[in-house]
Amino acid sequence: MHRLTLGEFELCSFSDGTYPLDGGAFFGVVPKVMWSRKVMADDKNYVAAGLNSLLIRTGKNTVLVETGMGNKLSPRMAKFYGQPAQLLNNLSAGGVAPEDIDIVINSHLHFDHCGWNTVRGANGKFIATFPRAQYYAPEGEWQYARRPSERDAISFISENYDPLVESGQMKLLKGSEEIVPGISVKTFPGHTAHMQAVIVQSQGRTACYISDLMPTTAHIDLTWGMGFDLYPLQTIQSKKEYYARAVPEKWLTVFTHDPTTPWAYVEKEDLGKMVARPV
Ligand SMILES: [Zn+2]
Repeated sequence: MHRLTLGEFELCSFSDGTYPLDGGAFFGVVPKVMWSRKVMADDKNYVAAGLNSLLIRTGKNTVLVETGMGNKLSPRMAKFYGQPAQLLNNLSAGGVAPEDIDIVINSHLHFDHCGWNTVRGANGKFIATFPRAQYYAPEGEWQYARRPSERDAISFISENYDPLVESGQMKLLKGSEEIVPGISVKTFPGHTAHMQAVIVQSQGRTACYISDLMPTTAHIDLTWGMGFDLYPLQTIQSKKEYYARAVPEKWLTVFTHDPTTPWAYVEKEDLGKMVARPV
């Protein structure tokens, strides 16, 4: 667990573990001779991807951004990805019980971002893992998830969100709402059409859970997008838009899938190269 203070807020990163992703898919059109200088692949060309959730204590609310991969993968998916399922254990080790969470925010609804939203209850029904929490997710994502394309249908497990939408425990967001004072969402299309970053601001300082727009510190170059991105040219446009504010205003960027660096400051060197400066 990593921890820091941002103004009056406390930020902690908690991991659901790591899982293997194909290095080619992770880096899209970037040649392996280039990405393999930054990330090690195993003999099957898999690289380790992290599953970082962000816990924010504002003083009034305890907010959890993203809920990892969870424990509901089908046997076939578990064969590909494993099923580390460590988030609840790691939260518990950090002194956080499921009942402590007031608000859960999902940036989008791919299975590796909202997996611990729900668990299978005693009667076989799916119930909220965080019983007291008000959940939030992008409305456009939820609409899309009901009829995904053939290409990414595998990325959606409806039990992660439909029971919460039906019960009213999940509210759907348009993409620019402030959820509590200092915590707001902003749509950055590219990875999907409706993915929302979570922006955290306190006393003039800003952190941003940028989600799959920049999954790891190895993806900060403008053109280093993932093969999974549905709209790769929009990923580049959204990154430009993000850097235009995050670099001069020294935002702390939180990386969902970086197995070792959950957050860093993204800076532009004199020759224009983007670098991640560790905290
Ligand atoms: Zn995703």
